[in-house]
Amino acid sequence: MTKKIFASIMAVSCIAVTVAMIFLTILNYRATTDSTAGDLAESCGMIASAVEMNGGRYLDETDFGELRVTWITRGGRVIFDSQKDPDSLDDHSGREEVAEAIESGEGRSERYSDTLMTTTLNHAHKLRDGSVIRVSNAQRSFPAQLLKSFQPLLAILAAVTLFSFISASLISRHIVKPINNIDLDHPKTERSYKELAPLLRKLRKQNGKVNRQMIELRQSREQFDIITESMSEGLIIADQKANILASNASAYRLLGVEPSEEQHTAFSLCHNEEFRRCIQNAMGGMRSECLLSTEGGERRVIASPADNCGSVTGFVAFVLDVTEQQQLETMRREFTSNVSHELKTPLTTIYGIADMLANGMVKAEDVSRFGGDIRGESERLINLINDIVSLSQLDENTAPRQDEEVDMYELAEEVIARLDMNAKEKNITASLEGDHVKVIGSRTVLSEIIYNLCDNAIKYNVSGGSYSVRVSHIPTKALITVSDTGTGIPDEHIDRIFERFYRVDKSRSRKIKGTGLGLSIVKHGVSYHNGTVRVSSKSGKGTKFIIELPVEGASAKKQTEISE
Ligand code: ADP
Repeated sequence: MTKKIFASIMAVSCIAVTVAMIFLTILNYRATTDSTAGDLAESCGMIASAVEMNGGRYLDETDFGELRVTWITRGGRVIFDSQKDPDSLDDHSGREEVAEAIESGEGRSERYSDTLMTTTLNHAHKLRDGSVIRVSNAQRSFPAQLLKSFQPLLAILAAVTLFSFISASLISRHIVKPINNIDLDHPKTERSYKELAPLLRKLRKQNGKVNRQMIELRQSREQFDIITESMSEGLIIADQKANILASNASAYRLLGVEPSEEQHTAFSLCHNEEFRRCIQNAMGGMRSECLLSTEGGERRVIASPADNCGSVTGFVAFVLDVTEQQQLETMRREFTSNVSHELKTPLTTIYGIADMLANGMVKAEDVSRFGGDIRGESERLINLINDIVSLSQLDENTAPRQDEEVDMYELAEEVIARLDMNAKEKNITASLEGDHVKVIGSRTVLSEIIYNLCDNAIKYNVSGGSYSVRVSHIPTKALITVSDTGTGIPDEHIDRIFERFYRVDKSRSRKIKGTGLGLSIVKHGVSYHNGTVRVSSKSGKGTKFIIELPVEGASAKKQTEISE
């Protein structure tokens, strides 16, 4: 705008100056011509009077300077010329001014010469004898005058241009300044040109509208951020070129990357080939899923294309933490395979013996031994099935829940009595000490906990060894310890003994009856009562299991996740 105003002022000034100069030149030329013509008429009259009085002698004796004086007879012959030889001049009767003077006493004319670029002014005066005195004076023609004044004109034009340049730049800046100073965010009509008032009013209105929309947009963006940031699932929203439009902290956390400025595209979040394929499928319009193993655990990525009227405009991807799910799946698979294996072994033995019996291959004296084997294997099967049922009830939280006040001391006493035969078989002595601490809980489950621990204390004990149960009370909790003088558990196995079907020494344990589910039941049973179980053991010295149960019992139990 400044440039335009500047150029306009410059153009107007230059044109105005040029036109004014031409106009002045014309006026000057006209004034000069008129003055010269007047002088000529006066000179001509005076010369004519002098000739009337003194005759031709006056003409011969007078120096007329630049003036050309010609005396022409009535017939048109030149008899005197102050600048040329009269004989060389032709008949002048036809000259405009001469003819006019002969006819009316005075005559005048202007003759323009292209070659000389002059204009000759002539004035003629008729004498009493009918002859004519003509006085001529040559002056510059208008183009010559214009050419002559061209140089000063150029100088003036340059001076005016310089002046115009400075003033145009000042004026244009001055004009534009109030426009530049308009605060577009808060336009005030009174501080600018009144011609701009309607525009500024409109601008103010538009600003208000835009501001309201911006606030609404910010609010919805903030809402969106709050919602997505509180999500435990990762969220990535990207355009058709995989440029990230929105994402939440969980997405970065689950994918194990630190958010940074360089992560413009979804591909930069994870360099796994499966992830890339999943994103590419979504960008191609196909819903896609993949599983990723990260340092933090197992992740499932679900990417769905964002379809707008048939064209894919981007995609939305969710990143889910499926570590626990995957672990449970692995556990379920292992459990199924272990159960099948554990069921198959005794059943194969039973089938084999039954087959031999059916084919009469067993001697009469061996029947009772084989019968004993069948009973033993059946017992193993029953134990196994009982353990699986107990575990599944604890897993599903479907164990018959009849919470009651249970005296843990009395419960331990009962268990020790039930296992008396087993202990005696191995020459193991049992002892019970402590207080009658009462716990609110499931008698069946609590009994199973104590039973499994005492059973193990006998099974994994040495002949002639001992085990003891101690029931005591610590603030708000019941403390039950079962310690034995048995084989102990090597350190490297301690962390795994609560896993389902885990047995420390499979070949050795084979001889000792067991399912590998006992301690799992203990752990789940304790957790069922919102308690804790710890173990300390020294290989070859013995083992101690310490259980803490809240005395308020299972009624205080929170829904605790059980995991192995
Ligand atoms: P099992 O039916 O084999 O006894 P458990 O789950 O009860 O299964 O025990 C898991 C394993 O932990 C056992 O096979 C045994 O190796 C070890 N274990 C359990 N209790 C004791 C203990 N008191 N002394 C030594 N080892 C033990």
